[in-house]
Amino acid sequence: MSGNIFYTKAAKYWANVPATIDGVLGGYAHISDIDIKGSKAFLNDILALKNAPGTKLALDCGAGIGRIAQNLLIPRFGKVDLVEQEERFLAAAKKRISETNERLGSLYNIGLQNFIPQKKYDVIWCQWVLGHLDDFDLIAFLKRCKRALNTNGVIIVKENITSTEEIEYDEEDSSVARPYKLMQLIFNEAQLNVIKEDEQDGFPSDIYKVYSFALVPSELENRPFVLTL
Ligand code: SAH
Repeated sequence: MSGNIFYTKAAKYWANVPATIDGVLGGYAHISDIDIKGSKAFLNDILALKNAPGTKLALDCGAGIGRIAQNLLIPRFGKVDLVEQEERFLAAAKKRISETNERLGSLYNIGLQNFIPQKKYDVIWCQWVLGHLDDFDLIAFLKRCKRALNTNGVIIVKENITSTEEIEYDEEDSSVARPYKLMQLIFNEAQLNVIKEDEQDGFPSDIYKVYSFALVPSELENRPFVLTL
């Protein structure tokens, strides 16, 4: 399948999805609270590290209607920027959040495969969206995110993981679920180290396993004279 169809088919799918929690969670609105609870615990651990990231600015990638920004990031960060390709979702996020809160920052209406961060972020949160990028775009995107991290900044990836060793393609929304090993290869390729990972618990048994990974630039990068064979 050509990359183009993969992306246009996904955009078409999301263009017809209602701008609601149930819409962005594919009919699983009821798992939102437990997801946020798990994410809060994960983020708390990251913010409690000795070299913890700052809490000035976070970025929510594939933000949808701002579910994560509103419930997880805004309570912990001074400002939260959103990047999301479906314009209706961004408009809904703005409406839901900014009427009551001044912490909503810049809103970028663009696909992650084309997005170039313009600021330095303490935390970059990517959840349930990276399956919409092909492997090469994902590696390139993660590299751009890495360059956009503040000192001690962390990228957090929370995604579906297959129970098999195979990539599984979802015809309906045109996304892939990746096996654990492939995620590791991709992080490696982007020169990112996993400093913490966790499997979300309490999700229904009929959905994918969901893992959170906290990623920081690998040390190799900071060693200017290292030779890799
Ligand atoms: N992360 C949010 C939304 C998940 S739904 C949450 O957990 O609540 C997936 C979101 O990814 C949708 O909002 C969809 O429009 C967006 N999306 C799909 N492909 C994308 C792409 N290539 N770039 C940016 N966003 C994309």
